[in-house]
Amino acid sequence: MMQVNHTVPDDVLMAYSTGRLPVAFDLVVAAHVSLSDESRARLDAFDTIGGALLEASDTVEVSAGSLDATLALIAAQPDQPVTRRAAPDSIYPTPLHAYIGDEANIVWRPLGMGAKQALLHTEDGATARLLSIPAGAQMPDHGHGGTEMTLVLQGAFRDEFGEFHRGDIEIADEEVEHTPTVIGSETCICLVATDSRLRFNGFLPRLAQHFLRI
Ligand code: ZN
Repeated sequence: MMQVNHTVPDDVLMAYSTGRLPVAFDLVVAAHVSLSDESRARLDAFDTIGGALLEASDTVEVSAGSLDATLALIAAQPDQPVTRRAAPDSIYPTPLHAYIGDEANIVWRPLGMGAKQALLHTEDGATARLLSIPAGAQMPDHGHGGTEMTLVLQGAFRDEFGEFHRGDIEIADEEVEHTPTVIGSETCICLVATDSRLRFNGFLPRLAQHFLRI
């Protein structure tokens, strides 16, 4: 069993369970839940409650996000064709693998200093991306205009709020300013969802931001 120290709070899990998250965040939570037994157990409880509430109500609202989420979950079921499933040695959790398909589909673009990103999905103002940051590198000091969810897939990083390893999720909002630094010898690869642009505190990062769509 994998030890995941930083999990999602109940309100986020509940929003996920009822399909109320934008697709970008839905993807991050689905990937996290697949890596954290503790989050999955709590999600099962919310799903059970949600199912009971649905049965008790006459009208059911289904958002576009929940349809996507459901399709992604169906795609992630073990009885689906082998090509849609993560290879055992893949760092990409099953829901993410179901979304991107073959890893060769990932289009990495350089960010400078050995870092790179791959945009996965943008819809309703929310964007999901993969970030790859080399060992020892630091993300520029930044704040957030909205919510940022970061799930570690490989390697680890540390910031003002703790250490984050594979499966750990960090949720940052308007209140949070941080400077994530990669720790350990491995390149850190994260799945990140944001619903507005980051606020960089330095001029050069702000200039680069214009070109990089971070
Ligand atoms: Zn951040």
